Amino acid sequence: MKTKRCGYCGTPIDNECNPLSLDECNKLTEKQLNEAEQDHGNCCVNEQQEDNYITVTKDMASDAGDPSLEGMQWKW
Ligand SMILES: [Zn+2]
Repeated sequence: MKTKRCGYCGTPIDNECNPLSLDECNKLTEKQLNEAEQDHGNCCVNEQQEDNYITVTKDMASDAGDPSLEGMQWKW
């Protein structure tokens, strides 16, 4: 499956541009996230140009040394 991400907030999205659940986000590897194609996600259907947010996956939280960060929205 080709990975896509919302070009506005960075959330991984499916082929219909619906945001993936946290569980689904956690299954994506860092490589998949880095190589993801950007598209206009339904999460930001009304957005024009906004700050970027990303949902913190389990891997990202453990990389940051704080598992409680999982599921939070990070601005970047
Ligand atoms: Zn979005």
